[in-house]
Amino acid sequence: MSQVVRYERRGNAGVITVDNPPVNALSKAVRQGLVDALMQGLGDDAAKALIVIGAGRTFIAGADIKEFGKPLEPPDLNFVISGLETASKPTIAAIHGTALGGGLEVALGCHYRVALPTAQVGLPEVKLGILPGAGGTQRLPRLIGARAALDMITTGDFVRAAKAKELGIIDAVVEGDLLAGALGFAEEAAARGVAGRRIREREDKIAEARGNSAFFSEYRAAVKKRARGQLSPLACVDAVEAAATLPFAEGLKRERDIFQELVTSTQSRALIHAFFAEREAMNIPDVPPQTPARAIKTAAVIGAGTMGGGIAMSFANAGIPVTVVETSQDALERGLGVVRNNYATTAAKGRLDPATMEKRLGLIKGSLDLAAVKDADIVIEAVFEEMTIKKELFARLDTLAKPGAVLASNTSSLDIDAIAAQTRRPQDVIGTHFFSPANVMRLVEVVRGAKTGKDVIATAMKLGKTLAKVPVLVGVCDGFVGNRMLFQYIREAEFLLEEGALPWQVDKALQEWGLAMGPFAMGDMAGNDVGWRIRKQQAAIRPNDRRYSHLADEICEKGRFGQKAGAGWYRYEKGSRTPLPDAEIEALILAESKRIGIARQPIADEEIVKRTIYALVNEGAKLLEEGIALRASDIDVIYLTGYGFPAWRGGPMFYADTVGLDKVYADVKRFHEAQGYFWRPAPLLEKLAREGKRFADLNPRKG
Ligand code: NAD
Repeated sequence: MSQVVRYERRGNAGVITVDNPPVNALSKAVRQGLVDALMQGLGDDAAKALIVIGAGRTFIAGADIKEFGKPLEPPDLNFVISGLETASKPTIAAIHGTALGGGLEVALGCHYRVALPTAQVGLPEVKLGILPGAGGTQRLPRLIGARAALDMITTGDFVRAAKAKELGIIDAVVEGDLLAGALGFAEEAAARGVAGRRIREREDKIAEARGNSAFFSEYRAAVKKRARGQLSPLACVDAVEAAATLPFAEGLKRERDIFQELVTSTQSRALIHAFFAEREAMNIPDVPPQTPARAIKTAAVIGAGTMGGGIAMSFANAGIPVTVVETSQDALERGLGVVRNNYATTAAKGRLDPATMEKRLGLIKGSLDLAAVKDADIVIEAVFEEMTIKKELFARLDTLAKPGAVLASNTSSLDIDAIAAQTRRPQDVIGTHFFSPANVMRLVEVVRGAKTGKDVIATAMKLGKTLAKVPVLVGVCDGFVGNRMLFQYIREAEFLLEEGALPWQVDKALQEWGLAMGPFAMGDMAGNDVGWRIRKQQAAIRPNDRRYSHLADEICEKGRFGQKAGAGWYRYEKGSRTPLPDAEIEALILAESKRIGIARQPIADEEIVKRTIYALVNEGAKLLEEGIALRASDIDVIYLTGYGFPAWRGGPMFYADTVGLDKVYADVKRFHEAQGYFWRPAPLLEKLAREGKRFADLNPRKG
């Protein structure tokens, strides 16, 4: 008998315990162990019912992701589940923690399901570009109806025990000790037997959807809109429709066929890449996991503006008390008011209970005295983006902060080393570049200065996790990784306007390609004036032999700062955030093309995508060469979590790999010949293209 699954008898019931830490994933050994234990239980005459339960902190949390992409080894999970379902004795899944993916499918193979109130169930496969491939799409609709099953399967969202009970996924919520509760339930189940309990034989819940093709096409249309180019949610609808049109065995076969198609697709590879890339980003070659991190029990944030408020909320959400320091009572009140409003909005939507909201607000204190930083284990500066202000502030923090405190800056572009040089403790200084809104966005670029201590890096990375963020380590340069690449992308988008496109065409092409938002709608949302103010400061140092688009400056000079001004690259109806094409902007762009002597040409959507996305890729390659980014997958994580890049494209670098670097390089070269300076191909891109390699080959993933 396998060690990861054990069988024992308790009273009149047989207990099959899956013990495969950390999350009881369904490895080959677990699948085999389940088959063996089931056989043993069926042969144990004293066992009147069989319970499947997980050891440790959870039930079975899913497939073994390490086996992804490899040929599946027997026993097949369908075989295991079929064994549980056709068993002559009642089988009961006893769920705590999470029953996800294959874990929930195992539970659906059982005749009964009980769970602790804190348990959650779900079929998240869609998020990895696949679908539940062990009967989930066939059994769940038979258990809870097609619509409820589709809602779960196409989103991958988890459902808590109470809701699962309401839906009919679980039969009973048990309090206290799960095994004791399950043993009690087993007495009942033994008396009731298996009749009518095999989900494959159930008809009542799915009857309504049978032959109802209108229902499925309507549902499919809604999913298509939401999926923004991702195929797996639509494939999930196909599979559930098969459950409603075919006999069980045929439906199961159809599910398997669709699964096979998806599992080898580029989209699925991209989503699995995204999943691993986030974990890999925590791996820093010269800062090994055993590097001691400093304890962060209290924090201070300087500046209660857009970013400071959101950062303070992130600390409070994680239960860490935080003091926000401002220069005036007005600014402080305004900032804390925004924080309170943000929480109140979430609470009004029912996503935060009032007691938790008050507790979080209670963790955020305000002060007008910088000396209030004296107890903080970390100070995060989020004042105006001006070097003189930041330098002065860090010099004062040096005298006020306690020894060993981490001194962090939220700057989006300034030189961390120059800031650190203002202190006598440059080893304690680091960049923590949060994204806006900081309480929502998951990305934090952790910026390593030349003198930043390894323990300080370890501390910032760990803190990122504590704050439920995705920290990615980057080096010092103008704009770090994300914004330096974005700069190239926006520049190309503006050049495209001069050459023949209009903002709404560029945005639509990129949105259809999968981005959450195109560059012009994004500019309007973030405020076009931010970049404009920076450009005005830099005008004196701008080389005049290079092409420069004046369009963005022109619209700012007209006060078209974006949504907040009611006009930007688009026009906005009063009180609305919907961008509307604007004839005034079209006229302005046409006039500009004329002024600079460009004969406008129609530009195909495909060319728009190449010009903008390859601008990201080429700059990304330069960042890799310079060592600013540690690995291509880190760049992908930054774009996936901070810039609305579609997960199913895997990030810009992964995407380039899927296109083929030889092809990407050929286009970059073509752009260089036509456009000049900005398109100098990154030598790394050229080298990899010549050698027939991918970015992924630079840092092959271990394991
Ligand atoms: P903001 O203008 O909204 O807020 C800055 C706040 O700092 C103001 O409330 C101001 O009163 C306060 N302040 C100025 N000097 C101070 C001092 N000496 N002591 C205490 N408070 C002081 O700015 P923001 O958008 O929150 O940006 C803050 C930082 O975060 C900047 O470095 C910016 O580049 C960076 N950042 C901004 C964004 C964004 O989208 N807004 C995103 C990432 C990073």
